[in-house]
Amino acid sequence: MAKIVLDGVDKVYSGGVKAVDNLNLEINDGEFMVLVGPSGCGKSTGLRMIAGLEEITGGDLYIGDEVVNDRPPKDRDIAMVFQNYALYPHMTVEQNLAFGLKLRKIPKPEIQKRVQEAASMLGLESYLKRRPAALSGGQRQRVAMGRAIVREPQAFLMDEPLSNLDAKLRVQMRASLNQLHERLGVTTVYVTHDQTEAMTLGDRVAVLRDGRLQQVDTPKNLFDRP
Ligand code: ADP
Ligand code: ADP
Repeated sequence: MAKIVLDGVDKVYSGGVKAVDNLNLEINDGEFMVLVGPSGCGKSTGLRMIAGLEEITGGDLYIGDEVVNDRPPKDRDIAMVFQNYALYPHMTVEQNLAFGLKLRKIPKPEIQKRVQEAASMLGLESYLKRRPAALSGGQRQRVAMGRAIVREPQAFLMDEPLSNLDAKLRVQMRASLNQLHERLGVTTVYVTHDQTEAMTLGDRVAVLRDGRLQQVDTPKNLFDRP
């Protein structure tokens, strides 16, 4: 777990678009922070900068107490979950869950332990030998989350992970995400344009507009106004 701090962070794309403009945001250790706002407001860019997938053009990004502006993604100890799952189609669920750990040369018994734990937490035990093509959308999304969980990272970053699921599955997955967060307590930054997700998942919600932070507050204070 780690605190994530954006200190006056800017992103100007090479074409000149200022996607993120002097963003100041402190995400506490173990906090679930949701980024919301209209399409094009800079949510994904913000998340990708935290992940190290996009260069920061101004300001400082801290993970824990360290400035990580120039650190590559693999050295940031954070795991990202995408909306399109990004599973390996030729591998089973078990192999998908284990793959990242093998690359990191984690010992085999430890890999097996983590894969079992993640599968149990996500209700995937009976699907471990299946390939992604033989899974439902909800199951695939849980495998994608499982791959993040087994790494035991300091933070999770999620970019609209539920947007490809139907309404019923979204309700289930929101409940699963809440359980997971309660259980693991990992610092999470979650991008969505869905107000219900923001309300039900966020400890706090940051509202962006035109690359700027408009408001950051608890869901209750933001959405429960009379
Ligand atoms: P959101 O996730 O809130 O929809 P984005 O972070 O994707 O917003 O985009 C913020 C702004 O940056 C938009 O104006 C978008 O067109 C622009 N943008 C995003 N990615 C790129 C890119 N690779 N090159 C140039 N402009 C981009
Ligand atoms: P489908 O809708 O095609 O049956 P799902 O992906 O929704 O497939 O779910 C498969 C099974 O896993 C369902 O029985 C569902 O209730 C269950 N399930 C959903 N979320 C969890 C979870 N976090 N932990 C354990 N089981 C779950």
